[in-house]
Amino acid sequence: MEKYTILKKYFGYTQFRFGQSEIIDSILADRDVLCIMPTGAGKSICYQVPALVLKGITLVISPLISLMKDQVNALVQSGVNAAYINSSLTAGQYATVLRRALNGQYKILYVAPERLTTDEFIRLAEQLKIAMITVDEAHCISQWGQDFRPSYLKIIEFIERLSYRPIVSAFTATATEEVREDIIGILRLNDPVVITTGFDRKNLYFEVQKPTNKFSALLKILKRNSGKSGIIYCATRKTVENICDELNKHGFLATRYHAGLSDTERHANQDDFLYDRQPVMVATNAFGMGIDKSNVSFVVHYNMPKNIESYYQEAGRSGRDGDPAECVLFYSGQDVRTNQFLIDNSNENPELTEEMRQEVKQRDRERLKLMTFYCTTSECLRTYILKYFGEPSVNYCGNCSNCNTNFETVDITVEAQKIISCVYHITKLNKSFGKTMIIDILHGSQNERIHRFQLNALSTYRIMSDLPVHRIRSILDYLIENDYLMQINEEYPVIKLTKRYGEIIKDRKPVCMKLPKQIEPDKPRKTAALYDVDIRLFTLLKELRHKFAAAAHVPAYVIFSDATLRDMCRNLPQTNDEFLQVSGVGSVKMEKYADQFMGLIKTYLSGHPEIRNIQAIPIAQEEDRIREKEKSGSPGTYHAWTLAEDSQLKKEYNDGLSAREISAIHHRTIGAISSRLKKLGLKR
Ligand code: ADP
Ligand code: ZN
Repeated sequence: MEKYTILKKYFGYTQFRFGQSEIIDSILADRDVLCIMPTGAGKSICYQVPALVLKGITLVISPLISLMKDQVNALVQSGVNAAYINSSLTAGQYATVLRRALNGQYKILYVAPERLTTDEFIRLAEQLKIAMITVDEAHCISQWGQDFRPSYLKIIEFIERLSYRPIVSAFTATATEEVREDIIGILRLNDPVVITTGFDRKNLYFEVQKPTNKFSALLKILKRNSGKSGIIYCATRKTVENICDELNKHGFLATRYHAGLSDTERHANQDDFLYDRQPVMVATNAFGMGIDKSNVSFVVHYNMPKNIESYYQEAGRSGRDGDPAECVLFYSGQDVRTNQFLIDNSNENPELTEEMRQEVKQRDRERLKLMTFYCTTSECLRTYILKYFGEPSVNYCGNCSNCNTNFETVDITVEAQKIISCVYHITKLNKSFGKTMIIDILHGSQNERIHRFQLNALSTYRIMSDLPVHRIRSILDYLIENDYLMQINEEYPVIKLTKRYGEIIKDRKPVCMKLPKQIEPDKPRKTAALYDVDIRLFTLLKELRHKFAAAAHVPAYVIFSDATLRDMCRNLPQTNDEFLQVSGVGSVKMEKYADQFMGLIKTYLSGHPEIRNIQAIPIAQEEDRIREKEKSGSPGTYHAWTLAEDSQLKKEYNDGLSAREISAIHHRTIGAISSRLKKLGLKR
């Protein structure tokens, strides 16, 4: 069978995503590959599709038992013969899997790395025709990676003990240069095709908030995402406990996960989350590796993580189904101090020499600094992340809190001089203070410490009393980010001058920065309306899906993802052929589910004939809408066109209103109206 036929038949998709085709073709041309793709980009299909084309069996090495079970469940549901071998099997189950493998019953077998080099498994391997060995989460093989697993070293031992050499394909979401070289070197990949797809995840909305009350900010996010599934990451176990308890008191179905819980409780809670019994997970960063729940709609970081790698990986657990999802980070100065403390006091790897340890710490501090800048920058957040991963990108994405805030470029020359001269005078006194104290001096606080240190006698005391504190903080952050000042660790983080301070107070260099005009924290997410479907029908379809999932003992998304159900709402399929057109429906699932789902849709339609009139819009076209920013380039004004707005627009056009009149009704620019009319095929 050919790759497109397989993609539709088993996975229900008609198109490959960016990079997938190239990887599959390389494997089918007998090449080793190393594939680096962000979480949620669709790595599994890159080895599952060729596994079904190749003659023989594919072994997938994966670090986590829970992940294997889910992946195998999903494959079996789609009609692929697959199984797994790991420590969760009983002796009887293990024997059955081995026997079936020998009979050639499986195309894909997931194996835990520590199982590979047992004599029994090697004997089996010699009798099997292994077409490919796929190493998932391949960064686990590198000591440079964030998740080194010594058992991964058994993979190469296993490959070398075989009397033949299968194709080896390796996959990971995080790879710095060192990790990439390690994967190629340690796995002895044979002249591999290395494919790195872009790191951008267009459907994720990024936001940084600096709330005075984090918990009430969290409640707002949960309310606007009511009924949806999400993860809240906290820095400590204690915070996890508190937040989870509070959320339960407020009536949210939330569960928790951290390393302090018993194995049994962790598993139970994780399942509650996966099966949507408790759609909200409050967790430390111990949670999530290998969780590929597709319908996570939001990830909130209650505390700032220690680096951008961790942040992007954790935030990236949302929106895997391609639907819009939001990633919100709550920032506070305390988070920086906590992380700094953890870095200073970490002694994780006892094998390091003192010199290496210092080097690692230095690198961690540098990473923390760049994480902090993410929280304080007024530039496009997506651009910031992509640049961090070395990917060039335009400076405006239109789908992050910075792009959506109205910024103005402000001359801050005088403010910069005031702040820097304040730090200068403090330095003269042989003292150093943290950010808050410096702001207190400039703003003219009367607090006890100011008086104790007699800082009210400084010439810079109160010289910025006319500015709100948050503005002073933004400007101070900007000066640190741009290297005029620095934040270094003494007993606690303090602000010092850098070599460049003279440019500001001696050379009087003009400085400008972007500052928000006004903040509208609770603007509805602009992408929310994009995927408007009939919510009642969607809910009924979800209930039906739930029945099938419960009967099969699998999470709901293994039956159909939310994106697939939404596509059903749009297309309202009534024949098997139409059902097969729905994104995410392959022929096996069509056979299993078409009758019931179409039956439900038919009944619903007879009660609500009006929904037929809502024109079906394919997902791809909707994604176009997200990208369709106003070409004028003025940021902040773009928001998506909803179906209702489109139909209103058509009516106004047909009524003969001018673009100017329509523009006034919709609060959009004339240019935006004209281009929308053109897009809808309406032209005067
Ligand atoms: P990764 O392993 O890279 O984190 P997954 O393999 O779990 O990502 O894929 C993420 C989601 O994207 C899954 O729900 C998968 O079904 C979906 N997906 C993958 N490839 C495609 C495709 N070509 N078209 C549509 N959806 C896809
Ligand atoms: Zn942006």
